[in-house]
Amino acid sequence: MKETIFKQLNDKVDHNIERSKELYNEALNHLVGGVNSPARSFNKVNYHPIYFKQGKGAIIIDEDNNSYIDYVLAWGTLILGHSDEYIVNELKKQLEIGIHFGACHYYEIEFAKLVKEAFKNIEKLRVVNSGTEAVLSAIRLAKNYTQRNKILKFEGNYHGHVDSLLTKGGSSILTQEINIKENETIVCEYNNKKEVELAFEKYGKEIAAVIVEPIAGNMGVVKPINGFLKFLREITKEYNSVLIFDEVITGFRFCFGGISNEYDPDITILGKIVGGGLPIGVYGGKSEIMDNLAPLGQTFQAGTFSGNPLTMLSGILTLNILKQKNYSYLEELGEILENGIKTIKSKYNLNIYFNRYKSMWSLFFTDLNEIKNYKDVIKSDTKLYGEFFKYLIKRGVYLPPSQFEAAFLSFEHNMSLISKTLDIIEEFFKNYF
Ligand SMILES: *Cc1c(COP(=O)(O)O)cnc(C)c1O
Repeated sequence: MKETIFKQLNDKVDHNIERSKELYNEALNHLVGGVNSPARSFNKVNYHPIYFKQGKGAIIIDEDNNSYIDYVLAWGTLILGHSDEYIVNELKKQLEIGIHFGACHYYEIEFAKLVKEAFKNIEKLRVVNSGTEAVLSAIRLAKNYTQRNKILKFEGNYHGHVDSLLTKGGSSILTQEINIKENETIVCEYNNKKEVELAFEKYGKEIAAVIVEPIAGNMGVVKPINGFLKFLREITKEYNSVLIFDEVITGFRFCFGGISNEYDPDITILGKIVGGGLPIGVYGGKSEIMDNLAPLGQTFQAGTFSGNPLTMLSGILTLNILKQKNYSYLEELGEILENGIKTIKSKYNLNIYFNRYKSMWSLFFTDLNEIKNYKDVIKSDTKLYGEFFKYLIKRGVYLPPSQFEAAFLSFEHNMSLISKTLDIIEEFFKNYF
């Protein structure tokens, strides 16, 4: 019954994506599965990849000239919105001066200073080209530094496609059924202190590092319960394990800095926002640990494109702008969105749960009214989320193409875009129920 209504509802909305379809069919001949990253296939929402060609502010435009309010923002990267005019112009100038030297240049220093200004636990840092690369390098470093082999991670957290950390990861691997077993990895339930205590009792002296998303974003948004992060700081200190905060999403998302400033982890990983839209990963922390990297120490890590002038300039400009920004603007928008959804929820008596931490959020299709870990998350109705996604995209709102990804706000979003989005969300539920 419900499914027929969905079909009618979806069919009523005209959404011409002919050009996207053509391109996808062509891509299938050349790229594996037609994509360069699995979530882009939109297969988890039973849809079709959309080919985007342009972005400006909070709006993204596809090859068929449909425009969408963008709540994905390149997976949380574009906190200043698409194609900030000032940054684009500065990058153009840099392109003429020099794209890449593969050697030292001044922007590396300026970028490092800005990151250190924002994160008081970072004394030294290294820039790489992706979050994945930063995580795998930080893990290698932690293992060499502690001379231990095990890593403790949390179910539903995602730290890039590092082999040992793909076990019970988050993000699209939650739904892509990849199975990798590495017995060096201990997986605990997120927000479950007891399991972490047991793991340390059993393996404490072998655990090189604990890695955590301080606010989980890759199983949908799941917040840490009170005291959880503090507990991780304490227990890792007690056992001399390295505490790694993966702030690839959360770094510079809620303030000029991150969650690390409250808990003093040994290593912080950054990515996404700090590259201002260009590929980047960063890992940094106490000199005592970081100085074990080559050329000072024995842990080798290198990169042809690491800290290239364009990425560094893009990062510097973005961070300088963010330093001046009033983040409470994002918080206000988030509140308005949340209140609007709560009103719709009670008006139509819906089984949905809106989970938000400041400017990152997820709408779970579930009857739970608290979501603390992966086991809660996977009770959501992913099929219904898919219908929701499809309806919204046809009406010009681009949400994450999976129930298990976070949505984001940027400084380019505004009240009128939020209110338009809420109208379309209400339209979906009104027609469905
Ligand atoms: C995106 C992400 C990564 C991986 O970063 P890539 O640049 O995609 O390799 C790692 N950790 C977290 C928390 C992320 O959200």
